[in-house]
Amino acid sequence: MLLCIWRSSSFSSAPRRLLRLVIHSNLRPCLINSLFTKSFTSETIMSDRKRKATSAPAGKKPTAKQQKLVPLKEEKKERAGGWLQEKLKQRRTEKKEMKFNKKRLRFVSDTEKIKQGSEGVLYWMSRDHRVQGEHTPSSKTIRHLVWLHLQDVIDMPISVFLSSPFFTSQPVDWDKTLVSLQVDRTVGEPEWATPGTKGGIAMLESFIDVRLKLFDTKRNDPNADALSHLSPWIRFGHLSAQRVALQVQHSGKKAGQSVSSFIEELVVRRELTDNFCFYNKKYDSVEGASEWAQKTLEVHAEDNRPYLYTRQQLEEAKTHDKLWNAAQYQMVSEGKMHGFLRMYWAKKILEWTSSPKEALSIALYLNDRYELDGQDPNGFVGCMWSICGIHDQGWRERAVFGKIRYMNYKGCTRKFDVAQFERKYCPKKL
Ligand SMILES: Cc1cc2nc3c(=O)[nH]c(=O)nc-3n(C[C@H](O)[C@H](O)[C@H](O)COP(=O)(O)OP(=O)(O)OC[C@H]3O[C@@H](n4cnc5c(N)ncnc54)[C@H](O)[C@@H]3O)c2cc1C
Repeated sequence: MLLCIWRSSSFSSAPRRLLRLVIHSNLRPCLINSLFTKSFTSETIMSDRKRKATSAPAGKKPTAKQQKLVPLKEEKKERAGGWLQEKLKQRRTEKKEMKFNKKRLRFVSDTEKIKQGSEGVLYWMSRDHRVQGEHTPSSKTIRHLVWLHLQDVIDMPISVFLSSPFFTSQPVDWDKTLVSLQVDRTVGEPEWATPGTKGGIAMLESFIDVRLKLFDTKRNDPNADALSHLSPWIRFGHLSAQRVALQVQHSGKKAGQSVSSFIEELVVRRELTDNFCFYNKKYDSVEGASEWAQKTLEVHAEDNRPYLYTRQQLEEAKTHDKLWNAAQYQMVSEGKMHGFLRMYWAKKILEWTSSPKEALSIALYLNDRYELDGQDPNGFVGCMWSICGIHDQGWRERAVFGKIRYMNYKGCTRKFDVAQFERKYCPKKL
């Protein structure tokens, strides 16, 4: 049985578990996600009592966070709310009678007898296009490959459910199961996200209807609501990246350039991180970085640090930098820091701690403890990119960073209204 909850620091082995599964079954990590989509529904995870609604309950005014993350009804002009859920339901019904060629089946479970008319998750695989190597090939190589084969992967039918069940499952006492879990309960549950496939589809729908058109131009502005917010559902396999890509391509045509910008993040960047963690055994360590990056960090290991903070000071957002504190507060209070700020946040940890090794370990600890999408290849590579230059090139040499790309407060003020963000996420008490 596969269990999944939104947050828990004791689940630090989760991404490795997923990768191990991939190794055994010899499938690409992103395709494995689509296999899990059905297993991880909200119904199988949390009791209704525990679940928080994505939108405000009837008659109640939505909170500020809900207003920010969930589109208001008036904003949806052309399609009635729930259209995507309906569309997917209809598609599944249409595919029920689908015939398949038994000879071409590949089994990923112990069940090897599948009769015509059985129920289960049937999914399609394309050729394996992984790029191998101890150190990751350049992002340029992978980007080229991914774009080349993108349509093959996106167009494959996803999860077809066949009729008449071949097994019945016993009812599960989820309240009891939840109580039995040894998880970090000191980290609060955010209100804006409803776990499960239904919640993920609702968020995808709101992205297509409201935010997608802003994605291309506003995705680096932490004050604008332009991102998909889908990473938690993708990370837990509630929603497959393939489903998201397919739907955004089909339903988001009016959003123009935003569609390809989004696919670049969702598919190309994600494939890069999966590939890196799949092949590099040191994916969460400075030794996993390229030679040039390790060398430059070593050369600057003894450089004077302008500020030195402990892990606790950082965790409690007690630095001299209001923007950094605000980003940290956003992550702790909402379970999701804006993507642009994650880079700034991790790079400052490098600047303010005694060594790159310590910086990476603190960044990963905080990321995996507080981000809903943490413990994911994207997180390992995000931190490795920021601190150890993974998938990046050398830049002008400077103290502490060496040739690792640098980011500073002033640069952020040129990109967005920093003061506005600081006011909104001024840490109360962490
Ligand atoms: C220091 C640091 C830590 C990060 N930690 C995580 C993490 O723990 N989990 C996580 O999923 N992502 C992580 N990222 C990558 C990225 O910031 C998040 O995927 C993104 O902010 C999630 O929000 P979204 O779904 O609204 O993003 P959108 O911008 O709407 O992107 C859609 C999807 O594309 C993928 N994506 C976007 N940016 C990246 C990227 N840079 N690399 C790989 N895939 C990407 C994700 O699957 C994301 O859900 C990290 C980045 C950095 C720099």
